[in-house]
Amino acid sequence: MSEQLSFVSPTANSPWGTYLSQVDRVVPYLGPLARWVETLKRPKRALIVDVPIEMDDGSIAHFEGYRVQHNMSRGPGKGGIRFHPDVTLEEVMALSAWMTIKTAAVNLPYGGAKGGIRVDPKKLSPQELEKVTRRYTSEIGIIIGPHTDIPAPDVNTNAQIMAWMMDTYSMNVGGTATGVVTGKPLHLGGSLGRVKATGRGVFVTGREAARRLGINLRGARIAVQGFGNVGSVAAELFAEAGAKIVAVQDHTGTIVNTNGLDLAKLVPISRTDGVVGFKAGGDIVPNEDFWNTPCDILIPAALEGQLTAERAQKTTAKLVLEGANGPTVPQADDILAERGVLVVPDVICNAGGVTVSYFEWVQDFSSFFWDEDEINVRLDRIMMNALNQIWDTADKHKITLRTATYAVACERILMARQERGLYP
Ligand code: GLU
Repeated sequence: MSEQLSFVSPTANSPWGTYLSQVDRVVPYLGPLARWVETLKRPKRALIVDVPIEMDDGSIAHFEGYRVQHNMSRGPGKGGIRFHPDVTLEEVMALSAWMTIKTAAVNLPYGGAKGGIRVDPKKLSPQELEKVTRRYTSEIGIIIGPHTDIPAPDVNTNAQIMAWMMDTYSMNVGGTATGVVTGKPLHLGGSLGRVKATGRGVFVTGREAARRLGINLRGARIAVQGFGNVGSVAAELFAEAGAKIVAVQDHTGTIVNTNGLDLAKLVPISRTDGVVGFKAGGDIVPNEDFWNTPCDILIPAALEGQLTAERAQKTTAKLVLEGANGPTVPQADDILAERGVLVVPDVICNAGGVTVSYFEWVQDFSSFFWDEDEINVRLDRIMMNALNQIWDTADKHKITLRTATYAVACERILMARQERGLYP
């Protein structure tokens, strides 16, 4: 018997609602461990903080920040920090829960956590951005730490922001605690290969899924939504393998070229002007047309809830690679499964980032740094082992890769929960 707490109740079609329905689907495959499943439906701890700063014009602004530690049964909390004007507590709860599933799916010794600030960083000066980051870090400093909860980059955060976080935490504890965050600059305990790791993981899992489906990457048509750190790196790696990137969408619009976009030109232009800045290299089309551009592989690598039922009905893709967290709503998942479209779910597809974060954290503690080849070989091995195990589980129970990933991950998490026992 459990009381339903108000802050864990989902709103309709929200990321947290999506997560809860993903957990419900795995219950029949958990055996006696199903007894513990309620653990996964409640965050362990959620902190809301006020982040006041003095703006450049002398006014005082307040932003709302969050850090949610969803589960720590298998190790310290782990997960990124998102700066976005639409961030809410409920969204951060879902993102933290997906981290719990993700770290367990690739068998890293972590739980799951996530943080965010409800702010549009594009509207802040560099000084204001630094103040927001430092004050937020100081406020959540009571629950983060190298052995308790380790933040990292996510949407709109980067290595510079991680450096400020590391410095603020270090100043407060009176030492240099490089292991408190990952995704740091290279000369501050960062790891080679971390920036490209998430996109590389999407490529590694996508290459294997394409092989199993009999899709030849040479000439395969790919549509990418979101052209930041994940989407652009994955696009480059697929293009190197011979694929054609036929459509790209970002916050500025959608560009299509059925002969394949020239990434060597598109990528640098997109960093300053967005993808519509590359008008010369393709046709700018209405955003909704992105979803029916003929393609073989679709990579949603932006925000949650983008692949709706209607868009799932329209897509011509045979393979969906979830570079983003939570891009597909449950109804769309069902439609894609019925239509025979294979989905490599976020919790394995984009796990390359947190895997190299783990390498960074291990290197920080041992003060011994690996070369980039070693990072990439180990990343490839961990992701392939995890994907193969998930695929075997999917084949055994005749279930989707998403439910199979949850089955593998939830068994690890709930087994740890059971073995630790309840305190007191
Ligand atoms: N933000 C990334 C994710 O969603 C990486 C998290 C990490 O490295 O801890 O997986």
